[in-house]
Amino acid sequence: MDLITTTSDLADACDRLARHPFVTVDTEFLRETTYYPLLCVAQIASTDEAIVIDTLADGLDLKPFYELMANERVLKVFHAARQDIEIVWHQANLVPHPIFDTQVAAMVLGYGDSISYDQLVQRITGDTLDKSHRFTDWSRRPLSPAQVSYAISDVTHLRDVYLALSADLAKRGRADWVGEEMEVLTSPETYRADPENAWERLKTRVRKPKELAVLMEIAAWREREAQTRDVPRGRVLKDDVLGEIATQAPATIERLAALRSLPRGFERSKWGQDIVQAVARGLARDPKSLPAIERQRAGGNGSATLELLKVLLRMTSERHAVAAKVIATVDDLDRIASDDNADVPALHGWRRELFGEKALALKHGKLALAVEQNRSRSTGRRKNKTRRRFIRRLFGGTRPRGAGAPDATPSRTPVRARSGARAGAAARTAARPRAPNSGP
Ligand SMILES: [Zn+2]
Repeated sequence: MDLITTTSDLADACDRLARHPFVTVDTEFLRETTYYPLLCVAQIASTDEAIVIDTLADGLDLKPFYELMANERVLKVFHAARQDIEIVWHQANLVPHPIFDTQVAAMVLGYGDSISYDQLVQRITGDTLDKSHRFTDWSRRPLSPAQVSYAISDVTHLRDVYLALSADLAKRGRADWVGEEMEVLTSPETYRADPENAWERLKTRVRKPKELAVLMEIAAWREREAQTRDVPRGRVLKDDVLGEIATQAPATIERLAALRSLPRGFERSKWGQDIVQAVARGLARDPKSLPAIERQRAGGNGSATLELLKVLLRMTSERHAVAAKVIATVDDLDRIASDDNADVPALHGWRRELFGEKALALKHGKLALAVEQNRSRSTGRRKNKTRRRFIRRLFGGTRPRGAGAPDATPSRTPVRARSGARAGAAARTAARPRAPNSGP
């Protein structure tokens, strides 16, 4: 293994790596105190070697590394690629391409929703990884030999994982499924942090257009502020404060001071005036310029349909060994329940074949789900053991018993703002910030 600290060594290593059809890649970074993650270490392996790049080394130019990331002839293999790609995008203004994400491939092959690197390595190679350096400080210098060997293991085992998964994908004819997800992961749109769209990532629910308008303005203000000061969003204002500002719309400093969630004295800081102005901009917005607030479909037949769709999704996921999340999210099911032409991944391509068609048939009473209790012959001491299993039965166009599913009528309240952007399901899953243990 090699710790690389000079530009010439890096250029030589990248020349060698570029002769391979694929390399495995991982990065280590810090983002606890900054808006933009600080890249500390980058690891790459080919079938011949593995290198660790000290990206903080004095005078080191990472250009050869970025050229390899953009080299169309070399496939870059990551596990949970989103944050690694985001760093490269921010530092070099390019998206690594082509790529393969083993976490997404694992979902498509039935390893569960978002399997961690350690678990995947364990299940495929049988090796148990040393986790003792998981929370190590990667910005500390010098890097210890233990840190370097831990970093190396993040890319060396990934080679075997990749080879096993890609062989399995080919065997089961699912390579295209992963390819579709990779397109989302390598689209610059996925990484462009436009402050105007910052509200989309909030979980805050708003009921009225006026509230949405204020939320959009205040979220945009926070995003710009966090970017300018290079601090995490929560350091500027916490999400719950944004929610309260959206619903209360404080148009004066006094009203702002009265908010329960606002840190004490905040209104007197220079940001108090900024917030009041952002609120005013929101209130002044033409409601017609706002994205549609989508009504949350809850209650009544809508939710009955949703529950049935959830069962169908679980059955489909088990039967075909594909993580449910890759096929559809609960939100997607909710949209299908109320709209046959909902623009969700589950109604396109292979997902439609696997699930979407059946979902629509179920919704319209052409497909029914039933629980069958069949008595099996006694085995051992217990007699008449009851085994429950789901069976599917086709009803030629008639309404299924007990599963009346007329088109869902949207209820009036509450409503929820929704982003117009639709991404692939697994990529959306993978796009979420990863849990401390899920990435390599
Ligand atoms: Zn790692």
